[in-house]
Amino acid sequence: MAAIHEEVALALWQAETAVAFTGAGSSTASGLPDFRSTRGLWRQFPEALASRETLEHALEERYEEMRAFYLWRLETLQKVDPNPVHRILAQWEQRGLLAGIITQNVDGLHQRAGSQKVFPLHGDLHTIRCQRCGRFFRPEAMAQGSCPVCGGRLRPHVVLFGEALPRDVWDGALDLTRQADLMLAVGSSLQVYPAASLPRLAAQKGKLIIINQEPTPLDDLAFRILHQDAGEALAAIDRELSLRIPPSN
Ligand SMILES: [Zn+2]
Repeated sequence: MAAIHEEVALALWQAETAVAFTGAGSSTASGLPDFRSTRGLWRQFPEALASRETLEHALEERYEEMRAFYLWRLETLQKVDPNPVHRILAQWEQRGLLAGIITQNVDGLHQRAGSQKVFPLHGDLHTIRCQRCGRFFRPEAMAQGSCPVCGGRLRPHVVLFGEALPRDVWDGALDLTRQADLMLAVGSSLQVYPAASLPRLAAQKGKLIIINQEPTPLDDLAFRILHQDAGEALAAIDRELSLRIPPSN
């Protein structure tokens, strides 16, 4: 394994513009479940809990299940911290090795670890929004029930099933991908579209490096593949990097 970590470190070091693309596997070491593995969220809960259909059309009782689901996820988030994946990527950005992070995660852990340029493709769980009037609220509002202004149903500011990605975030992520000559895809099954079209594009223009426990549909396009725990892989690459670049003060 050591040789491949050395190769990835060298590619990262030589890249003009390197970006990271992260998925649920980047946050599992923080104690957050992913979505589609055997212990994933959508194996335990129906996807309808995260659908626009339920939000807009379901009877009150079903909507209340949705609200409870998101309250539980917000509570879970309060108990977790960034893990080595988030910390190492933040350090790489600080050291000028990484131009930014495109993430499918809605947990805010990249930002909490200190990453500055983050494009959260699927939104942010910590921001609450009223589906009727569009006003934004702090996470606590979700516990109170309906919108304090208009009485509309509250929802997290995330992309639900049946909804489009936020345009500005998508455009920023696409721009960054077009500039990139290297993309590190970390902890993503690379199966969810349109998000996965970004690493696909990156592979056409430059080097795509995939770090994921399980094989992905884009493995054939990758420059290097590490089927390994994301935290362990990044730590090993980071060790190789520090042999080349002394850590900055
Ligand atoms: Zn409202």
